[in-house]
Amino acid sequence: MKLDQRLERHPSDGGGRAWIERILKVVGKPGPLRVLDHARFEVIYEAGPLGIDVGGEVYFQVSPFWSWDLPQDRNPRARGYTTASTSAEGVVLEPVWVGNEILAIGIAGRRLEAGERIEIVYGAGPMGARIDRFSEREEHLFLSVDGNADGIRQFVAESPRFDIAAGPPGFANAVVPTTLEPGDPFEMLIAVLDYDGNAGVDFEGTAEIQVLEGIELPSRVDFTASDAGSKRIEGIAREPGVYRFQVEVHGAEKELTARSNPMVVEAGIQPIRWGDVHGHSNLSDGTGTPEDYFTYAKDYAGLDFAALTDHDHWGMQFLDGSPELWKRIKAAVAATNRPGIFTTLLGYEWTSWLHGHRHVLYFEADGEIYSSADDRYENPRQLWDALEGQAAMTFAHHSAGGPVSTNWAYPPDPVLEPLTEIVSVHGVSEAYDAPGVIHNPMRGNFVRDVLKVGYRFGFIGSGDSHDGHPGLAYVANEGAAGLAAVFTDNLDRASLQEAMRARRTYATNGARTYIEVSIDGVPMGGTLPPWKEGDPETQTLEIRIIGEGAIKTLDIIRSGAISTSELGNVLQWKAEREIPRLRRGEFHYIRVLEQTGATVWSSPIYAD
Ligand SMILES: [Zn+2]
Ligand SMILES: [Zn+2]
Repeated sequence: MKLDQRLERHPSDGGGRAWIERILKVVGKPGPLRVLDHARFEVIYEAGPLGIDVGGEVYFQVSPFWSWDLPQDRNPRARGYTTASTSAEGVVLEPVWVGNEILAIGIAGRRLEAGERIEIVYGAGPMGARIDRFSEREEHLFLSVDGNADGIRQFVAESPRFDIAAGPPGFANAVVPTTLEPGDPFEMLIAVLDYDGNAGVDFEGTAEIQVLEGIELPSRVDFTASDAGSKRIEGIAREPGVYRFQVEVHGAEKELTARSNPMVVEAGIQPIRWGDVHGHSNLSDGTGTPEDYFTYAKDYAGLDFAALTDHDHWGMQFLDGSPELWKRIKAAVAATNRPGIFTTLLGYEWTSWLHGHRHVLYFEADGEIYSSADDRYENPRQLWDALEGQAAMTFAHHSAGGPVSTNWAYPPDPVLEPLTEIVSVHGVSEAYDAPGVIHNPMRGNFVRDVLKVGYRFGFIGSGDSHDGHPGLAYVANEGAAGLAAVFTDNLDRASLQEAMRARRTYATNGARTYIEVSIDGVPMGGTLPPWKEGDPETQTLEIRIIGEGAIKTLDIIRSGAISTSELGNVLQWKAEREIPRLRRGEFHYIRVLEQTGATVWSSPIYAD
């Protein structure tokens, strides 16, 4: 990768331009191009002023991410069959499938001169080519050119783009605030999405909301086409209590039901905000634009805060070498940040394949990319040195395995890395005994293993969504995802930074379960003085859980030892226990498993 960065590119590399002449739907309902349609794409490439030498190549590539048919030149009857032709007399085209999603079209016979064209038909056979299952604006077909036949290629300046619309309504989401005080006004978000959680469905219909005593809320709301499947309704929480709303959506092909998260109405309750601070757009290896990412987080997932963290040096385009992409991300973050309502953070993913991945968040409008591919920032310590003194934070993720595990030999910077991501679409990195453990796990490299050696973290979950669905990554990812709960009175960058630094967080695999944990009044994330001579032998552990649904088990993890209790599928559970006083270096946290698979982890309480 580093070698590729240093390669000299000939001025003819990446020359010319390309556009889509026509998209013909082969399989699918009439109307715009939709997810999983089969289509034929007629693409024109026109050589630039320097042309292409004999032995040079034009590369045609579809998004490598998420189930596009591969362009192939072998079987005309199979999907993805791709042809290349030219009217330039004497030019012979030699398409070769070079693996993955790339078709290389070799230039032979004579040079392709300036202005001469090649027509590429992707999906030329009777079955066309099947496009992916995630809707987005600005999907690309990528073309790159090796103009001087030295084997080094470059993307053409503007790859052709097109939009993919969502499928039919198949999923409904209802979100209310987790915490309110009696008398507080609130909003309920109702979102109608397609079967894979894509936004932008064609939907006109009605949502019926279950009427609950103690809550003022309309009992029905109409969706028009201009709502694009997202609607907010206003209510007032009159009486203390715990409320879960059932919402029935009528008007789609099938009836949809959503069950809201629990809403806890209680005087003096500490507000919880929900966020997803790790995900990708089509600027690196994900789906959809940065702007749509934040819109989805707010208007479909109902998050309170979000960060987009595209890769520094990974994916189709590299952020570290594209100031215009970084500028675009900053603009999208600035345009969607609305303190008090929805807070957005600037970020990127430091994508080291040696030391593991870390996403970097900035709590200010501006920030730099310290790239893992840059010699100056290639290990975590160098990254922290570069970030020192800034309103920034780093998060190790998929630390126990997945695509690459974390090199824990670098002790996390106590100021810049107070939290760690323990769950995402990749699975769970908390401990080997956790449900939904990460793929390719490395024993001994789990977060609990490094807590035992004295590292100190609060926990968060993140989507690490690549499908453009921050906050709802579980819909299309076999239930795996992550969310971060943060205890903070105010919803703005400075308050989030303060709460995260203080580890007032907990992690879930996508659920919005409410939990409270304290020992002798010190809440999760906090630090207790360790036991010393003359102290009482016990201290008081308090736990309160309000499930999204039925709560199955509670694991109490104390410095590596687990004790499990069956909670009997209750919706709420509360207990106060005397436990032996924590000794120096001990940590204590809980893990809650619901019947649906929803899993929640408190941040540990430490005795240091
Ligand atoms: Zn990663
Ligand atoms: Zn990531």
